[in-house]
Amino acid sequence: MNGGCVLPTLAGMRLLRSTDLALRLLMRLAVAEGASPTTREVAADMDVPYTHAAKVVAELQHLGLVDARRGRGGGLTLTGKGRTASVGALVRTFEGDGDVVDCEGGATPCPLHSGCRLRGALRRAQEAFFASLDPVTVADMVAAPTGPLLLGISKGPGPE
Ligand code: SF4
Repeated sequence: MNGGCVLPTLAGMRLLRSTDLALRLLMRLAVAEGASPTTREVAADMDVPYTHAAKVVAELQHLGLVDARRGRGGGLTLTGKGRTASVGALVRTFEGDGDVVDCEGGATPCPLHSGCRLRGALRRAQEAFFASLDPVTVADMVAAPTGPLLLGISKGPGPE
């Protein structure tokens, strides 16, 4: 067995930072109540670097979940598709659907890779993790107490 089996599996069930930020951005926009915060404002609210937020916003825009208008009076708004988006689908999109363990990667693939029961069990666990998030929507995530908390941390317009 290669030495990479157990620890990468545990780390693999932890969300990437960009996945977590994408979900938090959508939730922040879901409580914007007609306002259109800028990327810089939501980055400040989420306490993340502007460049990281901008990259995630671009991906969300590409997916049709966020509208971004430039210039004076511009900003970010959640689309209808974004409000009803499945958290499970979003996590799949941002995490990718690769195995949680890289059984064949590296210079020395695991000698069990052609017939490993653990590999199948881990695949099923990963799918169960995603499936449990499938029925949950972005709108569900901002019901109280989360929505009011999100509004409470908003710092409002800042310097551009
Ligand atoms: S083939 Fe099985 S034992 Fe080997 S790395 Fe993959 S999951 Fe682990």
